[in-house]
Amino acid sequence: MSKKIANPEKFQPATRIVNAAHEYAEHGMVNPAVYHASTIVFPDVAALNNRANQPYSYGRYGTPTSRALETAIAELEGGYKCKVSPSGLSAISCALLSFLKAGDHLLMVDTAYFPTRKLCDTLLKGLGIETTYYDPLIGKAITSLIRPNTKVVFLESPGSQTMEVQDVPAIAEAAHKAGAITIIDNTWSGGYYFQAFAHGCDVSIQAATKYIVGHSDAMLGSVVCTAETWPQFKMCYETMGMFTGPDDMYLGLRGLRTLDVRLERHQKNAIAVAEYLRGHDAVETVLYPALSNAPGHALWKRDFKGASGLMSIVLKPASETALTALLDGLELFGMGYSWGGFESLVVPFTPIRSATTWTAKGPCLRLHIGLESPIDLIADLKQGLARLQKTA
Ligand SMILES: *Cc1c(COP(=O)(O)O)cnc(C)c1O
Repeated sequence: MSKKIANPEKFQPATRIVNAAHEYAEHGMVNPAVYHASTIVFPDVAALNNRANQPYSYGRYGTPTSRALETAIAELEGGYKCKVSPSGLSAISCALLSFLKAGDHLLMVDTAYFPTRKLCDTLLKGLGIETTYYDPLIGKAITSLIRPNTKVVFLESPGSQTMEVQDVPAIAEAAHKAGAITIIDNTWSGGYYFQAFAHGCDVSIQAATKYIVGHSDAMLGSVVCTAETWPQFKMCYETMGMFTGPDDMYLGLRGLRTLDVRLERHQKNAIAVAEYLRGHDAVETVLYPALSNAPGHALWKRDFKGASGLMSIVLKPASETALTALLDGLELFGMGYSWGGFESLVVPFTPIRSATTWTAKGPCLRLHIGLESPIDLIADLKQGLARLQKTA
């Protein structure tokens, strides 16, 4: 085995993600092996009878491949322990099912990723778990929505698509006072630019599909817990039979090693594109909290160490034909879901709300700014916006 770093705390975050979990690599290899395993055999009856105390007892309960990735993600996020799951959405559903049962109440942010909302409105509802949606900007006033049976306050910051930045410490404090836990979808920051546990969260989830994998070639979720929340989550995860294929977990660990350089470049490119878009007269608002004066900028500056490559824009009112002219002619922005890979993407969207109202009149676009040269990305958008303005 390679050497485990004894006191990782003394190193900078970039050093820590490069060195995390090296103890799982054997024979002097830089990377851990990809173990394809179901059965794990025991040398004798004593070991078999004592299997719950063996480091590895059955494929579904962990292999050196899963432990390496989970150890590295727990270190990235500054949490106690981590489990990875087959997708971001499975991480969310497993975390919610761990802490909620029939008769419980859930406070869900109104700007949650849409499939999270659907989970609450269908499966959780059917199980007798009631959801109340709340304004992402509610802050400490969330106290007024907490009931005696509120067990979980779920956050996502910035919010999906519309990028509202939440006052996470204020919400966490109010939840804890009332005996509820906080679970955050921390995908936008890659778990790197926002330290969920340092800001009062009890569980931090990522669609590792996005920035951890980073190359649009695998799906993965991660759930990092505190020492207090870990046993209950682990029990649910194992009871549900969650596990993930070793090749996908390996891609997650491989992606994680370059997270620092990739995010730095996503941020640099995204700021250049956001500044260009802000100055364009076809654009009503740029929703990217790293931009000075953008909505959420003050809280982002207080709590985040950086910004990733995902932003949205609201255009001035335009016809469907004009929007199509913009989108169909783009050369470098692929139209498709997911994000966090090396490539730039765009999708139009309509915000879905129940606790708040979306008042902007023009069409909305979500942009993922990839690792291409920002000169080319801006030129592509410039031509697209010219097509929009030329079309009635
Ligand atoms: C994509 C996404 C998810 C779901 O991840 P999958 O891996 O696609 O299941 C969850 N939350 C957010 C914020 C996302 O953007």
